[in-house]
Amino acid sequence: MTKRPFFTLLKPGFNYDLVESNPEEPESIPLPDNLILLLNEPINSAKKSLIKKGDTVKKGEKLCLYDESTEYTISPVAGSISSIDIFLDDSGNTSTYLVIKKDQKETTDTITYDLKDDITSADQYLRTLPGKPPLKILATNDNKINTIVITCIDTDLLTTTSQYVASKFSNEIKEGAQILKKLTGIPKICIAVPEESNIKEKFDTMQVFETSIRYPSNFPALILKDHLNIMLSAGQAPEDVGVCFITAEAAASMAIAYKTKTAGFEKHLTVIGKQGDKHRVTATVGTSLGKIFKALDIHISNEDRIVIGCPMQGIATYTLNHPVQSDMNTILIQDKESIHQISDSACINCGKCVQICPANVPVNILVRYLEADKYEEAADKYDLESCIECGLCAYVCISKIPLYQYIKLGKHELSAFRDSSVELETANE
Ligand code: SF4
Ligand code: SF4
Repeated sequence: MTKRPFFTLLKPGFNYDLVESNPEEPESIPLPDNLILLLNEPINSAKKSLIKKGDTVKKGEKLCLYDESTEYTISPVAGSISSIDIFLDDSGNTSTYLVIKKDQKETTDTITYDLKDDITSADQYLRTLPGKPPLKILATNDNKINTIVITCIDTDLLTTTSQYVASKFSNEIKEGAQILKKLTGIPKICIAVPEESNIKEKFDTMQVFETSIRYPSNFPALILKDHLNIMLSAGQAPEDVGVCFITAEAAASMAIAYKTKTAGFEKHLTVIGKQGDKHRVTATVGTSLGKIFKALDIHISNEDRIVIGCPMQGIATYTLNHPVQSDMNTILIQDKESIHQISDSACINCGKCVQICPANVPVNILVRYLEADKYEEAADKYDLESCIECGLCAYVCISKIPLYQYIKLGKHELSAFRDSSVELETANE
């Protein structure tokens, strides 16, 4: 594997947005009649499922497919399961979606949890809280996490969701930090805030990292390098070097959950309309994007594009039924006229992608290997796994080659290939 210096001195020329000093309250999207929940486990028709169509559920009820399942979702409403089916994501991975039909009788009954002061107990009930706390990582014993970084910063361009939560819920975030310390025993809890913002003063009792407003400084790999002096090797995740990142919203949600012994479901989002108009909203996890656009009076035409995330590294969805998920921060609508077209033109070796890459990846060569499906070579010789997925290379590519998509696909295929090799080796033992 090549060991190139990881980051260049050249800073790309995009800035993150900063939250207003006195932000307006979000618009609350009405609770829809049907909520769509994703469950990160495929249906196995050979097994007897614990849940089925027609089952009634309570607000806060934990739902899993099988006795031995470790994945679960939590129902945000009392009602009944009106559908359970296969969900196929963009990478071809299958999981499951459930539709919960809300009970028409307004009930305020919510299941309370027997939350104990240990991380395993939190992981049993709170994984799907708004902000999606990384409890699975923290609860895994073989992770030697020694530092938790709470992020009051946005990794997406154009959005200010995390900063808004940080500015409005600073007390809950500090309580969340204390709870995390108590549950995990990890003494070092730091907080990342944007430079040039007044969020820092709300956390004067904590160790604060001020991140640059230059994209992509808020990516975990860059925070590790700039503030903890840790360089990730190719293919490493922050937890491999002992650091766990948790969003401000997740930390605040945990504090509220421990206080009330119940799960929260209201997700903060920034919705960016076709003209760049920004809407700050809260919506219940499971609300379809179509319901949000309707409430905001945003009309979506056939060829408009709905992007979850920012223009650089967001993922397009092709259905208005796509649900709000607990880790979703930004929804961007691109007018069909302004969609950046991709092409099958050849690379002209202009070098722009290489110059702008913050991870020093030789993108122009790498993409040739990815186009030829040579994923292992791409990883071994051309730094596929050093890519932090910022999307800048695709943005500047003069030939409009879908570099980012090639890289994402390359990583996915490489991981699938490695998994199948391990399975084969295990079967042959
Ligand atoms: S997405 Fe492109 S520019 Fe960004 S780190 Fe990866 S290769 Fe470099
Ligand atoms: S920016 Fe596009 S055209 Fe230029 S070297 Fe990179 S891949 Fe080739």
